[in-house]
Amino acid sequence: MEDKFIHSFRYRNLWYSIVSAIMALITVLIFLGVVNFISYALQPNQEVSQTLETTTSNYKNQISNSINNSVNEDIYRESINSKNTQADIKPTKNTQSNNKFNLVIYVIAIFIGFLSFITYFLIFTKKMSTYLREISNGIDELSTGNFDVRIPLRNDDEFTRIAQNLNRMAVEIKMIIEEERTTENKKNELITNVAHDLRTPLTSIIGYLDLVSRKDLPADTKEKYIGIAYNKSIRLEKLIEDLFSYTKFEFGEVKFNKEEVDLVKMLYQLLDEFYPSFKEYGLEYSFDSTVPSAVVDADGDYLARAFANLIGNAIKYGADGKNVILHLEVKDTEVIVTITNFGEVIPKKDLAHIFEKFYRVEYSRNEEHGGTGLGLAIARNIFEMHGGHVEARSGLDGTVFEVVLPIG
Ligand code: ATP
Ligand code: MG
Repeated sequence: MEDKFIHSFRYRNLWYSIVSAIMALITVLIFLGVVNFISYALQPNQEVSQTLETTTSNYKNQISNSINNSVNEDIYRESINSKNTQADIKPTKNTQSNNKFNLVIYVIAIFIGFLSFITYFLIFTKKMSTYLREISNGIDELSTGNFDVRIPLRNDDEFTRIAQNLNRMAVEIKMIIEEERTTENKKNELITNVAHDLRTPLTSIIGYLDLVSRKDLPADTKEKYIGIAYNKSIRLEKLIEDLFSYTKFEFGEVKFNKEEVDLVKMLYQLLDEFYPSFKEYGLEYSFDSTVPSAVVDADGDYLARAFANLIGNAIKYGADGKNVILHLEVKDTEVIVTITNFGEVIPKKDLAHIFEKFYRVEYSRNEEHGGTGLGLAIARNIFEMHGGHVEARSGLDGTVFEVVLPIG
């Protein structure tokens, strides 16, 4: 491609040079033609004036001869001879001046040829150089950091391809810069959120422990405060653990120990583990699977953790709905698990964000649920790292989290 470009560029310039040279030659020929025509047009007039001059001088001589009568035949002959000699010399002088004239004309012709070659070459290459200037201006703009600049695509030649590549480069650099900016913003946001989420429970733990350290406090109040401080410490521990997991996923530091995992079995086990929670929230649950087993190649611990978050959420946020429904089916090469709860509907504007870290819908931003807003972000990472994905939909007929994982 590069080779083609160089050749094409060189050949084009060669072509322009040849055409310019031909045009310059034509111009020179036209010039010489015009000069010849003019000199031919002027020649008869010179002959007439010469003849007139000769005739006049002859008449003068004859008249002076007849008047003076003192000139003998010899002198007359001599004069005739001398005139002949003059007549002989005259053509030699004419030839010399003609040669000089021709020399001047040739020098002028060469000069005209040279000038017209340069002019034609500049005219032919004007379009190309104007476009090159446009490209160069575009590069200048890019170098100043203006990546919104777009070089117009004029023709289908090498320069257009350069312009195309520069435009593509501008788009890509802009995208990279924006991505970096977003990552930087996300990092800053993460640090701010973490600092905030760590400080809140820590401040109350310090506050309650300070109260407990007072001697005059009744024993039952002391016990209550210690209990609160303990719960807050647990929450703090969970937050730090979640954060740790999340950053590990984000920086790709997680290693999966993949093995054959039967999802049907895993979900039954998880539901058993969650039995006390279902009871605590007064919820019924059901699980139906269209297949007796659905084996996926996965890290069982991580996958269980992701599903545990979805079931935990269904319990926490679906308490008013009285029922949580789990369903599993296999379609082609995929296994689809849905977890449905009722109760709070996730507003449309929040639905697009719930998988983002620290995002919590207004109704769940209270101490009662005690969430950190990292659960779904971690779960999504886990599903995606297993080649699957998770989606959520919410309406009056329930909030559904649908997980799709490849089989085998
Ligand atoms: P944690 O990190 O402890 O899981 P969390 O449950 O608040 O905290 P996520 O699991 O990421 O965080 O959930 C994000 C938000 O999405 C929740 O705060 C809640 O507002 C909403 N949400 C998640 N699951 C459901 C659900 N099944 N029904 C209704 N709302 C839900
Ligand atoms: Mg959660």
